[in-house]
Amino acid sequence: MRFIYDHDLHIHSRISPCGGDPNQTPQRILQYAVDNGLKTICITDHYWDSTVPHPYGTGAGQTTEQILSALPLPEADGIRFLFGAETEMDLDCTIGVGREMIERLDFIIVPLNHLHMTGFSCRGDEDAAERARWIVRRFDALLDADLPHHKVGLAHFTDGLIYPGGKNTDVLMRIPESEYRRLFGRAAELGIGIELNMPAAKADLREMTWEEDADELNVYRIAKEMGCKFYFGSDAHTVAGLGWAKRNAEKIIDLLDLDEQDKFTL
Ligand SMILES: [Zn+2]
Ligand SMILES: [Zn+2]
Repeated sequence: MRFIYDHDLHIHSRISPCGGDPNQTPQRILQYAVDNGLKTICITDHYWDSTVPHPYGTGAGQTTEQILSALPLPEADGIRFLFGAETEMDLDCTIGVGREMIERLDFIIVPLNHLHMTGFSCRGDEDAAERARWIVRRFDALLDADLPHHKVGLAHFTDGLIYPGGKNTDVLMRIPESEYRRLFGRAAELGIGIELNMPAAKADLREMTWEEDADELNVYRIAKEMGCKFYFGSDAHTVAGLGWAKRNAEKIIDLLDLDEQDKFTL
Protein backbone atom coordinates (compact mmCIF):
# COMPACT_ATOMS: atom_id res chain seq x y z
CA MET A 1 0.00 0.00 0.00
CA ARG A 2 1.33 3.42 -0.98
CA PHE A 3 2.75 5.51 1.86
CA ILE A 4 0.04 7.81 3.21
CA TYR A 5 0.97 11.38 4.05
CA ASP A 6 -0.73 11.53 7.44
CA HIS A 7 1.83 13.23 9.67
CA ASP A 8 4.35 16.06 9.89
CA LEU A 9 6.94 15.63 12.62
CA HIS A 10 9.12 18.70 12.07
CA ILE A 11 7.29 21.99 12.48
CA HIS A 12 8.49 25.21 14.05
CA SER A 13 6.29 27.64 15.90
CA ARG A 14 6.71 31.38 16.07
CA ILE A 15 9.08 31.06 19.04
CA SER A 16 11.85 29.78 16.74
CA PRO A 17 13.88 32.92 16.11
CA CYS A 18 14.55 32.06 12.47
CA GLY A 19 10.81 31.84 11.85
CA GLY A 20 9.45 35.19 12.75
CA ASP A 21 5.94 34.51 11.47
CA PRO A 22 3.66 35.77 14.24
CA ASN A 23 0.80 33.70 12.82
CA GLN A 24 2.69 30.40 13.20
CA THR A 25 0.97 29.50 16.49
CA PRO A 26 0.26 25.99 17.81
CA GLN A 27 -3.42 26.64 17.01
CA ARG A 28 -2.60 27.51 13.38
CA ILE A 29 -0.36 24.43 13.10
CA LEU A 30 -3.24 22.30 14.37
CA GLN A 31 -5.46 23.85 11.70
CA TYR A 32 -2.92 22.74 9.05
CA ALA A 33 -3.31 19.18 10.35
CA VAL A 34 -7.11 19.43 10.17
CA ASP A 35 -6.99 20.91 6.65
CA ASN A 36 -4.69 18.15 5.36
CA GLY A 37 -6.20 15.18 7.18
CA LEU A 38 -3.06 14.57 9.23
CA LYS A 39 -3.24 12.21 12.22
CA THR A 40 0.03 13.13 13.94
CA ILE A 41 1.92 16.39 14.07
CA CYS A 42 4.87 17.42 16.18
CA ILE A 43 6.12 20.84 17.18
CA THR A 44 9.93 20.97 17.07
CA ASP A 45 11.38 24.34 17.94
CA HIS A 46 15.14 24.82 18.03
CA TYR A 47 16.42 23.78 21.42
CA TRP A 48 19.47 23.57 23.64
CA ASP A 49 18.88 22.34 27.17
CA SER A 50 20.56 24.53 29.79
CA THR A 51 21.44 21.42 31.82
CA VAL A 52 23.82 20.44 29.00
CA PRO A 53 27.01 22.54 29.10
CA HIS A 54 27.69 24.35 25.84
CA PRO A 55 31.24 25.69 25.74
CA TYR A 56 30.84 26.97 22.19
CA GLY A 57 28.68 29.95 22.97
CA THR A 58 24.99 30.66 23.07
CA GLY A 59 22.47 30.99 20.31
CA ALA A 60 22.06 27.28 19.72
CA GLY A 61 18.33 27.33 20.32
CA GLN A 62 15.53 28.13 22.68
CA THR A 63 15.71 27.34 26.39
CA THR A 64 13.70 24.66 28.17
CA GLU A 65 11.38 27.33 29.59
CA GLN A 66 10.81 28.79 26.13
CA ILE A 67 9.86 25.52 24.45
CA LEU A 68 7.70 24.46 27.41
CA SER A 69 5.71 27.67 26.96
CA ALA A 70 3.99 25.98 23.98
CA LEU A 71 2.24 23.62 26.41
CA PRO A 72 -0.51 22.67 26.72
CA LEU A 73 -0.87 22.07 23.00
CA PRO A 74 -4.32 22.61 21.52
CA GLU A 75 -6.41 19.56 20.66
CA ALA A 76 -8.65 18.40 17.85
CA ASP A 77 -10.50 15.13 17.34
CA GLY A 78 -8.42 12.37 15.81
CA ILE A 79 -5.14 14.31 15.85
CA ARG A 80 -2.13 13.59 18.05
CA PHE A 81 -0.24 16.82 18.65
CA LEU A 82 3.18 15.81 19.96
CA PHE A 83 5.74 17.88 21.81
CA GLY A 84 9.23 17.57 20.38
CA ALA A 85 12.33 19.64 19.76
CA GLU A 86 15.02 20.14 17.14
CA THR A 87 18.20 20.09 19.16
CA GLU A 88 21.80 20.58 18.05
CA MET A 89 25.12 18.74 18.05
CA ASP A 90 28.17 20.84 18.92
CA LEU A 91 31.86 20.63 18.06
CA ASP A 92 32.35 17.88 20.68
CA CYS A 93 29.40 15.96 19.16
CA THR A 94 27.45 16.67 22.34
CA ILE A 95 23.69 16.60 21.79
CA GLY A 96 21.77 19.37 23.56
CA VAL A 97 19.09 17.49 25.49
CA GLY A 98 19.49 16.46 29.14
CA ARG A 99 18.07 13.38 30.87
CA GLU A 100 14.87 14.93 32.15
CA MET A 101 13.89 16.42 28.81
CA ILE A 102 14.83 13.24 26.94
CA GLU A 103 12.07 11.61 28.97
CA ARG A 104 9.63 14.46 28.58
CA LEU A 105 9.89 15.08 24.84
CA ASP A 106 7.82 12.91 22.52
CA PHE A 107 10.33 13.29 19.70
CA ILE A 108 13.90 14.57 19.42
CA ILE A 109 15.24 15.51 16.02
CA VAL A 110 18.96 15.97 15.46
CA PRO A 111 20.30 17.93 12.48
CA LEU A 112 23.79 16.64 11.75
CA ASN A 113 24.06 19.09 8.89
CA HIS A 114 23.52 22.36 10.75
CA LEU A 115 27.01 23.34 9.63
CA HIS A 116 26.12 26.99 9.24
CA MET A 117 26.82 27.64 12.93
CA THR A 118 30.46 28.67 12.76
CA GLY A 119 32.27 28.16 16.05
CA PHE A 120 29.50 25.93 17.37
CA SER A 121 29.09 22.98 15.01
CA CYS A 122 32.04 23.60 12.69
CA ARG A 123 35.02 25.89 12.23
CA GLY A 124 33.41 27.38 9.17
CA ASP A 125 36.32 27.07 6.74
CA GLU A 126 36.03 23.33 6.06
CA ASP A 127 36.01 22.26 2.42
CA ALA A 128 33.59 19.68 1.03
CA ALA A 129 35.86 16.71 1.80
CA GLU A 130 36.32 17.72 5.42
CA ARG A 131 32.61 18.37 5.82
CA ALA A 132 31.89 14.87 4.48
CA ARG A 133 34.21 13.30 7.08
CA TRP A 134 32.68 15.49 9.78
CA ILE A 135 29.16 14.40 8.85
CA VAL A 136 30.18 10.73 9.09
CA ARG A 137 31.72 11.37 12.51
CA ARG A 138 28.57 13.20 13.69
CA PHE A 139 26.33 10.43 12.35
CA ASP A 140 28.30 7.86 14.34
CA ALA A 141 28.04 10.10 17.42
CA LEU A 142 24.26 10.18 17.04
CA LEU A 143 24.16 6.40 16.73
CA ASP A 144 26.44 6.00 19.78
CA ALA A 145 24.55 8.54 21.91
CA ASP A 146 22.71 7.44 25.02
CA LEU A 147 19.30 8.22 23.59
CA PRO A 148 16.01 6.33 23.18
CA HIS A 149 16.58 6.03 19.43
CA HIS A 150 13.00 4.89 18.76
CA LYS A 151 11.95 8.51 19.39
CA VAL A 152 14.83 10.16 17.57
CA GLY A 153 14.72 11.56 14.06
CA LEU A 154 17.54 12.42 11.67
CA ALA A 155 16.49 15.87 10.50
CA HIS A 156 16.83 17.00 6.86
CA PHE A 157 20.06 15.04 6.28
CA THR A 158 20.68 16.36 2.75
CA ASP A 159 19.72 19.98 3.34
CA GLY A 160 21.99 22.72 2.00
CA LEU A 161 23.04 23.96 5.46
CA ILE A 162 25.64 21.23 5.24
CA TYR A 163 27.71 23.56 3.03
CA PRO A 164 26.72 27.23 3.12
CA GLY A 165 28.24 28.92 0.13
CA GLY A 166 28.85 25.56 -1.56
CA LYS A 167 26.70 22.80 -2.96
CA ASN A 168 25.25 20.21 -0.60
CA THR A 169 25.79 17.39 -3.06
CA ASP A 170 29.53 18.19 -3.24
CA VAL A 171 29.62 17.08 0.39
CA LEU A 172 27.12 14.23 0.12
CA MET A 173 28.86 12.66 -2.91
CA ARG A 174 32.16 12.49 -1.02
CA ILE A 175 30.71 10.07 1.49
CA PRO A 176 31.36 6.56 0.10
CA GLU A 177 28.34 4.38 -0.53
CA SER A 178 29.80 1.78 1.83
CA GLU A 179 29.74 4.36 4.61
CA TYR A 180 26.12 5.27 3.85
CA ARG A 181 25.23 1.59 4.00
CA ARG A 182 27.01 1.14 7.32
CA LEU A 183 25.45 4.27 8.89
CA PHE A 184 21.91 3.74 7.64
CA GLY A 185 22.15 0.04 8.52
CA ARG A 186 22.95 1.00 12.10
CA ALA A 187 20.20 3.64 12.10
CA ALA A 188 17.68 1.04 10.92
CA GLU A 189 18.73 -1.37 13.65
CA LEU A 190 18.36 1.30 16.32
CA GLY A 191 14.98 2.42 14.94
CA ILE A 192 15.91 6.04 14.19
CA GLY A 193 13.44 7.80 11.90
CA ILE A 194 14.86 9.29 8.70
CA GLU A 195 13.29 12.60 7.81
CA LEU A 196 12.17 13.41 4.34
CA ASN A 197 12.21 17.10 3.94
CA MET A 198 11.13 19.55 1.38
CA PRO A 199 12.11 23.15 0.93
CA ALA A 200 8.96 24.41 2.61
CA ALA A 201 10.78 26.55 5.12
CA LYS A 202 13.25 28.17 2.78
CA ALA A 203 13.26 31.80 1.89
CA ASP A 204 12.99 30.82 -1.76
CA LEU A 205 9.69 29.11 -1.11
CA ARG A 206 9.00 26.92 -4.07
CA GLU A 207 7.81 23.60 -5.24
CA MET A 208 10.50 20.99 -4.82
CA THR A 209 12.46 19.89 -7.86
CA TRP A 210 14.12 16.71 -6.72
CA GLU A 211 14.00 15.17 -10.17
CA GLU A 212 17.04 17.36 -10.74
CA ASP A 213 18.58 16.37 -7.46
CA ALA A 214 19.05 12.66 -8.05
CA ASP A 215 22.14 12.57 -5.83
CA GLU A 216 20.07 13.64 -2.84
CA LEU A 217 17.38 11.12 -3.62
CA ASN A 218 19.96 8.35 -3.94
CA VAL A 219 21.06 8.90 -0.34
CA TYR A 220 17.52 8.12 0.78
CA ARG A 221 17.29 5.18 -1.63
CA ILE A 222 20.28 3.65 0.14
CA ALA A 223 18.61 4.31 3.51
CA LYS A 224 15.50 2.56 2.23
CA GLU A 225 17.51 -0.42 1.00
CA MET A 226 19.12 -0.70 4.43
CA GLY A 227 15.69 -0.95 6.04
CA CYS A 228 15.31 2.57 7.45
CA LYS A 229 11.88 3.94 8.23
CA PHE A 230 10.89 7.42 7.08
CA TYR A 231 8.79 10.27 8.34
CA PHE A 232 7.89 13.58 6.76
CA GLY A 233 8.93 16.83 8.34
CA SER A 234 8.06 20.02 6.52
CA ASP A 235 10.45 22.13 8.65
CA ALA A 236 7.89 24.86 8.07
CA HIS A 237 8.62 28.00 10.05
CA THR A 238 5.77 29.96 8.52
CA VAL A 239 2.12 29.52 7.58
CA ALA A 240 3.15 29.85 3.92
CA GLY A 241 5.63 27.01 4.43
CA LEU A 242 2.88 24.73 5.72
CA GLY A 243 1.08 25.31 2.45
CA TRP A 244 3.79 23.48 0.48
CA ALA A 245 4.17 20.51 2.78
CA LYS A 246 1.62 18.05 1.44
CA ARG A 247 2.22 18.45 -2.27
CA ASN A 248 5.97 18.17 -1.87
CA ALA A 249 5.57 15.11 0.34
CA GLU A 250 3.36 13.42 -2.24
CA LYS A 251 6.05 13.98 -4.84
CA ILE A 252 8.75 12.49 -2.61
CA ILE A 253 6.54 9.47 -1.92
CA ASP A 254 6.36 8.87 -5.68
CA LEU A 255 10.04 9.52 -6.36
CA LEU A 256 11.16 7.12 -3.63
CA ASP A 257 8.30 4.70 -4.30
CA LEU A 258 7.46 4.61 -0.60
CA ASP A 259 5.10 2.11 0.87
CA GLU A 260 3.24 2.14 4.19
CA GLN A 261 5.73 -0.34 5.56
CA ASP A 262 8.51 2.23 5.06
CA LYS A 263 6.84 4.53 7.58
CA PHE A 264 8.44 5.51 10.90
CA THR A 265 5.89 5.80 13.67
CA LEU A 266 6.08 7.23 17.16
ZN1 LIG B 1 17.14 22.37 10.95
ZN1 LIG C 1 13.86 22.79 11.67
